[in-house]
Amino acid sequence: MICSECGKRTKKTKGSVQAQSLLLGEITVPGITRDLCKCGKYWLDMDNARKIAEYVTAHEVGAISSLPVDNFVSRKQACDVLGWTVQEFRKNQRVKNGFIIFYATLQGERYYLRESVEMFRDTKDGRFNILTCGQRVTRLQVLAATIQ
Ligand SMILES: [Zn+2]
Repeated sequence: MICSECGKRTKKTKGSVQAQSLLLGEITVPGITRDLCKCGKYWLDMDNARKIAEYVTAHEVGAISSLPVDNFVSRKQACDVLGWTVQEFRKNQRVKNGFIIFYATLQGERYYLRESVEMFRDTKDGRFNILTCGQRVTRLQVLAATIQ
């Protein structure tokens, strides 16, 4: 095809593309076929666009699941933080949408990221860049150890 930016002919090329993740920031997705132009612009077909979305989702789930267990609270504990009943929690549309409060599943039970629950309580939006979460926890623990 012809590039709409510069008018040169594009070439089908397989390689890495950069994708944006709310949780992880910019991530590199390998093995994506796209129509690439010398000017740097590229176009994706549906299959490769879906491949990128799946890759990003898998890495987000992996990042959440790899956080230390004590960063997570049960649904009952999450309700205590929010001052809600379990039913209110279940019925809340923002929670239902799945991406407001991050969670990991362990033996069929959902565990919610404590920091995300607290952020949700304070701002109604519990999403943040997850890579900074582990660092903040580590820093807090170091601080607590110094004070004692
Ligand atoms: Zn071009």
